[in-house]
Amino acid sequence: HPPFDVNAVRRDFPILAERVNGKPLVWFDNAATTQKPQAVIDRLAYFYAHENSNIHRAAHELAARATDAYEAARQKVARFIGAGSVEEIIFVRGATEAINLVAKSWGAKHIGAGDEIIVSNLEHHANIVPWQQLAAEKGAKIRVIPVDDSGQVLLEEYKRLLNEKTKLVAVTQVSNALGTVVPVQEIVDLANRAGARTLVDGAQSVSHMRVNVRALDTDFFVFSGHKIFGPTGIGVVYGKRDVLEDMPPWQGGGNMIQDVTFERTIFHPPPARFEAGTGNIADAVGLGAALDYVDRVGIENIARYEHDLLVYATHAIRDIPGVRLIGTAADKASVLSFVLKGYSTDEVGRALNQEGIAVRTGHHCAQPILRRFGVETTVRPSLAFYNTCEEVDRFATVIRRLAGQRKV
Ligand code: PMP
Repeated sequence: HPPFDVNAVRRDFPILAERVNGKPLVWFDNAATTQKPQAVIDRLAYFYAHENSNIHRAAHELAARATDAYEAARQKVARFIGAGSVEEIIFVRGATEAINLVAKSWGAKHIGAGDEIIVSNLEHHANIVPWQQLAAEKGAKIRVIPVDDSGQVLLEEYKRLLNEKTKLVAVTQVSNALGTVVPVQEIVDLANRAGARTLVDGAQSVSHMRVNVRALDTDFFVFSGHKIFGPTGIGVVYGKRDVLEDMPPWQGGGNMIQDVTFERTIFHPPPARFEAGTGNIADAVGLGAALDYVDRVGIENIARYEHDLLVYATHAIRDIPGVRLIGTAADKASVLSFVLKGYSTDEVGRALNQEGIAVRTGHHCAQPILRRFGVETTVRPSLAFYNTCEEVDRFATVIRRLAGQRKV
């Protein structure tokens, strides 16, 4: 890869030239969704201009083009995350649907009364609620790995939770609320040794670090396209081939069948078995273009640049009087989460928006981890490789000004 040039990559993202409230946009809401490079926008337009058709069903030229583009995207996903084969890649709507698929299919078959599902205190609601619903249906139990005061999971506590009743360990690789990088390799290794299945939520990790699902040896890995510079409405379930082959469909309909009579249906093998109906063909193709783009920039370049930027941002706000930073683990990615004394998080968000700076304020769909730190909401700037130190300075200036104006 050529050396990383932030000004060059910024030019690839047309929206970064927007002005908001008369100021150049600062997009610090990357954990919610990322912006799209021109290559992705162009790929979507090309698909609709030259390739658009339903896939698999019709024997004509455009159906062949659409099918080829869709399957090429599956291949790109498999390569990007180090899967063993394209049969291990299922397209879904996003990480939320991905986890629901695993819960409704694998979970329905393999979770029973008295079984235990381990999650961490850091999980996004998407990796809590489906397991809670499953547990309520089956009479199973949710166990929670606690975190220390830095927001890192306590591995010793995790080891104590693992036992012969543990059927699944479902953990996030990076916390969307605090930015903690969770030691998922250790967590998966221990689960594998205990005979439990594992699901790693990669929604916040794939865009920031190299992921290899085979090295990780996890049974399931999920992520959303829109958080890695691809379109909304497309996401991925990776599942080990033998695990997927043993799973029943979770939705029925067209595309997923080999043969249907009124008496019975024979289902396709994975991944088609799990892709009932017309999928999000164009956006899958767009996701493929996004992964190609990330490959061109180089995920190692991205990880290195973002690490330095996060350190810079942490130093810029850490010592401002009244700032309480939540999530101070040694290993973090992308996210800063904080509250400012004397201000609601909404007030901070509005002051930043006045200056053209977009951050998320709220509970970030991760209420349990915020409550672990005694807060209901935080201000959450989240960085990507197209952000700069100058943008961090503009952000810190607003926070410093608010801190200085605080009435006591
Ligand atoms: N898990 C994590 C860690 C997330 O950050 C998110 C999105 N905020 C999700 C799951 C759900 O992703 P989506 O809303 O794209 O389905």
